[in-house]
Amino acid sequence: MTYRNILDKIRLAFPQPVSDTIHDSYFIHSMMRALDQVDDLKTHLPFLGNMVETDFDTAKKTTIEDSMSTVEEVTTDLVGYLQGMTIFGHPRTQQNVVAPTTIPSMIGVLLASLHNPNLAWDEFSRLVALAEVEVIGMTSQLIGYQPEQASGVFTFGGTGTTLYGVKMGIEKACPGSIQHGIPDDVVVFVSDAGHYCAANITGWLGIGTDNLITIPTTVENEIDLEILEQELRHALTDGKKIAAIIATLGTTDAFGLDNLMKIVVMRETLVDEFKLDYHPHIHADAVIGWAWSVFNHYDFESNPLGFRPRTVRALAGACRRIRDLHLVDSVGIDFHKTGFTPYISSLVLVKDKNDLDRLKRTREQMPYLYHFGQYKPGMYTLETSRSGTGPLAALANLKLFGEEGMRAILGHIVEMTQLLREHLEGHEGTTVLNKANFGTVTLFRAYPVGVDTFEIKRQEFEDDAFKDSLLAHNSYNQEIFNYVNSEAMEGRGVFISTTDCYRHTSYGEPIVALKSFILSPFVDEEDVETVVEKVLEAREHMA
Ligand SMILES: *Cc1c(COP(=O)(O)O)cnc(C)c1O
Repeated sequence: MTYRNILDKIRLAFPQPVSDTIHDSYFIHSMMRALDQVDDLKTHLPFLGNMVETDFDTAKKTTIEDSMSTVEEVTTDLVGYLQGMTIFGHPRTQQNVVAPTTIPSMIGVLLASLHNPNLAWDEFSRLVALAEVEVIGMTSQLIGYQPEQASGVFTFGGTGTTLYGVKMGIEKACPGSIQHGIPDDVVVFVSDAGHYCAANITGWLGIGTDNLITIPTTVENEIDLEILEQELRHALTDGKKIAAIIATLGTTDAFGLDNLMKIVVMRETLVDEFKLDYHPHIHADAVIGWAWSVFNHYDFESNPLGFRPRTVRALAGACRRIRDLHLVDSVGIDFHKTGFTPYISSLVLVKDKNDLDRLKRTREQMPYLYHFGQYKPGMYTLETSRSGTGPLAALANLKLFGEEGMRAILGHIVEMTQLLREHLEGHEGTTVLNKANFGTVTLFRAYPVGVDTFEIKRQEFEDDAFKDSLLAHNSYNQEIFNYVNSEAMEGRGVFISTTDCYRHTSYGEPIVALKSFILSPFVDEEDVETVVEKVLEAREHMA
């Protein structure tokens, strides 16, 4: 076969550049075939098809085929890779902060993939660049930034959003670090419930993880403000430069929300007192919590959407912290978590657009780009090519839901979470650990028949005489988890999760907890009741 024959087949595998109605239908049909085959993998269970053993050693030895396959063959092959995938939208999945994705957000991803805009420059992305700016405008105003003064950029994940925050902070504390490198007296602060990406970032940026100062949290999983102040003073007295204070709203495991108002006031006091020539940058890692800002102007008193009183309290409880997001210098937002889009859709917002300019390269460093046009984020982004998928997916959902839809979906999953807690609190064998945190994640522990769960929690967490008991109950909860999930595998019950270390006890031992993370709008009352039933059943089983 000459290459020309092969080329004919290759051309058929692309959408046609000029409309060809027969081929256009073939394209749509190919998509539909893929989706049909995925639907065939659905059963009543919360995962697709069968659980297949994975053999990574063999996978490594895979080689490329000699000749071409067809679109149909490749489709069937690819669909096969979805075998065993969790259906994150399934009401019987309460495992982790992985969102089910809406149809419009997938269409956003598809459209951006179809014509491949590159957000480095509006020359390469046209109105898709405008879409990015519209999303920046909408979310800025949701959290309370002034849209004229604010700016932002989509980046490679929640980790990327915090990376931008810290990077801008370095340039404020030590201007010119981009050229000269980072001095060795730079420190960053985060709470011990903050995300491990802070360690990643300080490591990769060359600050060094040794210079990441981790502040303990209160029992509410919030950064301990007294210790934070002590440590900030300590660092400044030692002549250190503070590149950033990373606040977390909410924490991944427990939805703890740091107090931004107090942190900002603390910073201002220290700037005056130590006569600093820069304002230490405060970044809010709100990749999960940002979505609650749709309740900033909700009338909790008249409660027009009709949430239960417990839900209203939980929403208001989260809002009292989330509504301060506008006080800080930058905020990380993941649409792929509480915004129900596919990965990756992460946005870092900055309160003052000049902060992003601190990261700008000179025109001479990029001679082949950015000669004209109005929008050139590629001049300061870490990425060169940047996909349009994230912004279009985010825009799709913001338009789909509107503020009211966002309130309804978040309100519902918070309502289901509160219902779960109500049930867990209604049994003597189970106890909720993160009662003071009002998100959609519940950490709880079960105790064997005969244990006084009213006393035991405090004893095990605070008194090292109870260490053996704590450790025994750590294993006990692991076993409960194994039982509940093996039942779920068989179609009886709900998949939940665990954490090996919800917090440390006062004497330094990890507390294992069972975890329910509700993110599916399909979860309903019976599904949360089932969680409790299955845990109690496991308890009976092990007695
Ligand atoms: C998930 C998460 C991150 C990391 O975000 P990615 O989008 O996974 O990179 C950072 N911080 C918090 C609090 C998170 O929950």
